[in-house]
Amino acid sequence: MKILIAEDDLVNRMILAQTLKGWGYEVEQVEDGDTALKRLTQNDSPTLAIIDWMMPGMDGPDVCKAVRNSGQELYRYLILLTARNDTDDLVHGLSSGADDFLSKPFVREELRARLRTGHRILALQNELIDAREDLRYQATRDALTGVLNRGTLMRRMQEELQRTERTGGALGVALFDLDNFKNVNDTFGHLAGDEVLRQVTKRVSGELRKYDVLGRYGGEEFIALFPEITEEGLTQVSERLRKAICSEPVQFEQSTIDISASVGVSIRYSETSTEDVLAEADAALYRAKEQGRNRVEYTYDTTLHLRKAS
Ligand SMILES: [Mg+2]
Repeated sequence: MKILIAEDDLVNRMILAQTLKGWGYEVEQVEDGDTALKRLTQNDSPTLAIIDWMMPGMDGPDVCKAVRNSGQELYRYLILLTARNDTDDLVHGLSSGADDFLSKPFVREELRARLRTGHRILALQNELIDAREDLRYQATRDALTGVLNRGTLMRRMQEELQRTERTGGALGVALFDLDNFKNVNDTFGHLAGDEVLRQVTKRVSGELRKYDVLGRYGGEEFIALFPEITEEGLTQVSERLRKAICSEPVQFEQSTIDISASVGVSIRYSETSTEDVLAEADAALYRAKEQGRNRVEYTYDTTLHLRKAS
């Protein structure tokens, strides 16, 4: 654990640094308020700081105020070091954003106790940040498969469609639906069905580029979005997706479950409504089902691509 000391008095600074090092802390030292502020607003700065009140340039309370106003994500625990201890001073110091005080000359056991409090607050703060990040993540994800949920998927599709307008690029959309999924649930049970859905997202994810997007649209329907893709590239990746899904059976407990998917693929070069794109991809998906399942149907001409591939 690293602590920043901001103190203009050399002797005080040395004593404080030695004490902290003796307790196993790493110590960073600065001699004035401006340098302290600069350091405390960098992402990799220590999260705990002991700041002298009286310093050349910015004083301690000003440093605290500026750190609080810097809008940083990571909380800094700030202890003001001061010879002052009348009530007005304490109020001023606290309202500037300091978390605690330490009077000069400091008493070792008091310093130690105040540092413990600081650690406790910082640990709580980190837990809160983690919990918030977890919630944010969960709110965008499908609980079963971990891919984007429907709401987030639709928002992403809309954003990507808008982006085609700005960049002149294309957006490829592959809507795929597991074949005879109801049979899987009926024959092997819902837990087996869940495992199939997880396996499918894993297999499909393995075929995607890192900026492609995968989401669950409905029960056994998924959508993959391919920003900045050509018709030929989209044709190839769609065939790969289909093959990856049926590449091998899913094993669940004692059961071996054959799976496949039908895919409807569409491409757009300008902003349109998500409904339009989905209706188009859905019509292609319907054709794929009608023509025997485990196949891909496109809304554009693939004669050239398929000829090249053969
Ligand atoms: Mg001073």
